[in-house]
Amino acid sequence: MKNEPSPILPGATIGILGSGQLGRMLAIEARKMGYRVHTYSPEKNSPTGQIADLEVTAAYDDLEKIAEFAQGVDVITFEFENVLSVTTDEAQKHVPVRPSGRVLHTTQNRLREKTFLSENDIPVAAFRVVRSQEELEKAVAELGLPCVLKTAGFGYDGKGQVKIKSKDDVAGAFTSLSYHEAILEAFVDFELEISVVAARGLDGSFVHYGAVENSHKNHILDVTIAPARISDALAKQAVELSSTILEKLDVVGVLCTEYFVTREGKLLVNELAPRPHNSGHYTFDACNTSQFEQQLRAVCGLPLGSTSQPKPAVMINLLGDEWERGTPQWQKALQIPGVKLHLYGKAEPRAGRKMGHMTAIADTVEEALANAQRAKAALQEF
Ligand code: AMP
Repeated sequence: MKNEPSPILPGATIGILGSGQLGRMLAIEARKMGYRVHTYSPEKNSPTGQIADLEVTAAYDDLEKIAEFAQGVDVITFEFENVLSVTTDEAQKHVPVRPSGRVLHTTQNRLREKTFLSENDIPVAAFRVVRSQEELEKAVAELGLPCVLKTAGFGYDGKGQVKIKSKDDVAGAFTSLSYHEAILEAFVDFELEISVVAARGLDGSFVHYGAVENSHKNHILDVTIAPARISDALAKQAVELSSTILEKLDVVGVLCTEYFVTREGKLLVNELAPRPHNSGHYTFDACNTSQFEQQLRAVCGLPLGSTSQPKPAVMINLLGDEWERGTPQWQKALQIPGVKLHLYGKAEPRAGRKMGHMTAIADTVEEALANAQRAKAALQEF
């Protein structure tokens, strides 16, 4: 028999690094199953803190506080992927960190991530490392125009990116990022963006939620359609690539892979997120086991749950912009059948800030999409 660590059972305490909406939804699932939850971040009265048993407010590089936090929990997971390696290294001295700090280290830097993917024969857009204006000029000559320059570290939702459309954009593009290391990527003229949320257990078991279809506005996810309206063969291929990624990275937890579907029908991986993902929020209402419960089960060494989804679902994000004309008309949106509302407990509705989401569940994808769009429009019927 394999000598596997014993599962972390209800009654134990889950430590979450980060305190946003992803941690909040994990905390809701954890509390439902009788776990205690501690959250750690520099914020106070955070979305996760409002649900947790304990909210620790301290800096991620305060290693004494991290050690103290780790000693008070049974396992640590994260909902914020830009946690420093020194932080996860310190935490790992006291308690299991799942997924491991090594997974974080690879995925929090686009250069390390893209290198890992290409070394494992996972298709990605052509890319070059850029550390100076001269390297940028050489890379642009090799990859051609248009292309996208991205900071290697600490970028999300299109932050730290510049599109280079013409030769004039090349001058100054590197300095505009004010970052010492970047990657230049060929621009992908994609047909569609899809993602696969999947989970891997402590015993290597694997489950997935299939391919879903995503559309973005201003680089921020706007709508997710589950399942994606693509061929079964393409969906299967995306799941197989995701399975390889979780295995090669030795993930214990949830990981989302974002793909471009090119006009030729080929898949290219855009990005990995080693945690529940915005494009998996629909699972909270639509699936037998949500991506958050799945994260909990995986990091606790429990059997993974069924990902079955009885009906199609569409998730629509609610950004702070919805509040521009006053409090959105929640009661009008909730009149629409099959619509569920999630708000993250954030006090200040700033433009572009993720404040919540709605999920519409219906018998067909078309009906779910129409209902989600009607619900969003209803919020503005003052
Ligand atoms: P990212 O932060 O890398 O996920 O990028 C955010 C969004 O920018 C993606 O979802 C795409 O819509 C777009 N994007 C990023 N990289 C590329 C690329 N190489 N080609 C075309 N669009 C891109």
